[in-house]
Amino acid sequence: MTYEQWLQSRLTAHGFACGAIDGVIGSATIAALKAFQKSRGLPETGRADTATVDRLRMTSGSSASSPSSRLQTSVTAAAATGRNTWPKQDDCMSFYGAVGSRQTTIDLPYSMVLAWDRAIRVRKMTLHEVVAASAMRVLHQVAEIYTERERADLGLDVFGGSLNVRRMRGGSAYSMHSWGIAIDFDPERNGLQVKAPAARLSHPDAVPFWEAWEAEGWISLGRARDFDWMHVQAARL
Ligand SMILES: [Zn+2]
Repeated sequence: MTYEQWLQSRLTAHGFACGAIDGVIGSATIAALKAFQKSRGLPETGRADTATVDRLRMTSGSSASSPSSRLQTSVTAAAATGRNTWPKQDDCMSFYGAVGSRQTTIDLPYSMVLAWDRAIRVRKMTLHEVVAASAMRVLHQVAEIYTERERADLGLDVFGGSLNVRRMRGGSAYSMHSWGIAIDFDPERNGLQVKAPAARLSHPDAVPFWEAWEAEGWISLGRARDFDWMHVQAARL
């Protein structure tokens, strides 16, 4: 992991997603830095000065990020075939490897915006190398099923984060986001505790979206458990 990627992953861990964790310090990363600085009462310089880096190092009520071990393990045969072979949540460490490792970047088939600053366009997303192709297939389908207007109406273009090394809320187990195998859409209208039909992604027009994920074996916590409707993951419950 480069220093730039470390910066981006820490910003993401604090809730200021930069799109892809690709080590490229572009407008999204600088905007995330400024927003983070503002939230911590620091001067909004958009630069990673010492005070800012010190605050980024702190945990956000969660774990510190573990350095990516950059394992160049080859994709397993099971994962290469993709569909419906995702591990159970408890088996993620053995299946996907160390948290934060083996990440890759995909080019999104339709552009998204950052949930916390919709002026910022997102064209890339960081995901685990084993699930990236599957997510690409789903997102391509989403781009075909829904018009741009429909995607915006449903919030399918609002990126709430993918890779984020942290513990689950109120627990010691790692969040599925720690492996880059979960994606959040439109967190504002699909809060963690918001149930159907209040959650926007629980509405009937979202069913084709969820079916596209489920055809690739991904799990919607909303569809399975009626909570966290923003979230989809490549791990079984
Ligand atoms: Zn999530």
